Amino acid sequence: MSLIHKTSQDLFHRAQQSIPGGVNSPVRAFRAVGGQPLFLKSAKGPYLFDEDGNQYLDLINSWGPMILGHAHEMVEKAVRDALPGSLSFGAPTRREVEMAELIISMVPSVEKVRMVNSGTEATMSAIRVARGFTGRDKIIKFEGCYHGHGDSFLIAAGSGAITLGVPDSPGVTKGVANDTLTAPYNDLAAVQTLIDANPAQIAAIILEPVVGNMGLVAPAEGFLQGLRDLCTKENIVLIFDEVMTGFRLAKGGAQELYGVTPDMTTLGKIIGGGMPVGAYGGKKEIMNAVAPAGPVYQAGTLSGNPIAMSAGMAALSYLNEHPEVYTQLQHITDKLVNGTMLNMKQLGLNYTINQVGSMYSLFFTEHPVTDFASAKTSDLELFGRYFHEMLQRGIYLAPSQFETLFVSAAITDELADSYLAANLEALQALKA
Ligand code: PMP
Repeated sequence: MSLIHKTSQDLFHRAQQSIPGGVNSPVRAFRAVGGQPLFLKSAKGPYLFDEDGNQYLDLINSWGPMILGHAHEMVEKAVRDALPGSLSFGAPTRREVEMAELIISMVPSVEKVRMVNSGTEATMSAIRVARGFTGRDKIIKFEGCYHGHGDSFLIAAGSGAITLGVPDSPGVTKGVANDTLTAPYNDLAAVQTLIDANPAQIAAIILEPVVGNMGLVAPAEGFLQGLRDLCTKENIVLIFDEVMTGFRLAKGGAQELYGVTPDMTTLGKIIGGGMPVGAYGGKKEIMNAVAPAGPVYQAGTLSGNPIAMSAGMAALSYLNEHPEVYTQLQHITDKLVNGTMLNMKQLGLNYTINQVGSMYSLFFTEHPVTDFASAKTSDLELFGRYFHEMLQRGIYLAPSQFETLFVSAAITDELADSYLAANLEALQALKA
């Protein structure tokens, strides 16, 4: 069996002449797994279709946003209905107020919220506000967490940065880098040490409450609450970056699932229903520091874009009104994860699988994966071979060991069975 990728290959060749590396975001280039990226043409429900007409079961779902599956009728209708209004005003609209109210009603920590256009903008803005609010300069982030490509975050960064071997990017000045302190994920003692060494200098601690960017890593028992307690004691702004986990792990995100409320939250992905949207929000007293209410400047010509707001409202309202989606996502993901474990058992393999809700990762290591150091014990060559064995069987996985998979509500029990059949064959092929 061998799928034809001729058109994708031709397009990639052309793309490399006009776009750096042929792609508009690095992980897409398949560098970590070898081979050439597929150029996609359309998608419907659980499926992707490439330029050569091949069909794939999608386990990335645009890195999260397509939680209801691709081309969901209700989201598409919302976009069509909004089109005659305007593509952009750059002025206030009713829809933005409704969107803000909906987010506030769903996400426990958010009392006020500002819309932006990407997850990167959300995190960059959130730390500026935390710095302005506290009058302090330094932030703490965790090794292997990714918070977009803002300068302050390209220090020990996960996701594409580690996939391409550049966790500390050239182009970030020493001054900026010096203000970002890093600790291993799940290591409260290391955080305490950093705070002790920098008294009254830490503006914010930012983290993925469940990490998706070193593969899927869950917070250890007590880690989130421990950070909450430290931040309260030291007047540090605790920021949960829920760009991946927001509206996915529960309608109120990881903070609802784990019952720990940060001071600020950054959001993206699902919030736009597939359109480019991000947001940051939090306690009123902090968000009132944002211009024009307060002195911390942050702005955006296209922020609150009417079409993007309509798509996002449709997706979020659906999730708000249909809690059964989360039950279904959990059921299907449990099935994929448990089935993979059974397949491995049958083949005498003992790789690690991490799962929280509808996010999961298969790590090609027998070590438990709880932080960046343990994630890096994975056999990346084996992962690359597994990725291609699955792709050949019509399953589209994230093209890096250091990315989580995202399940959509369009994956039925039957499709989960076909995934597991492919998984058994792919794992078998690796042993050969
Ligand atoms: N934060 C997290 C946790 C992310 O996973 C990402 C993107 N994967 C970002 C921020 C940046 O979002 P964007 O790519 O929309 O800028």
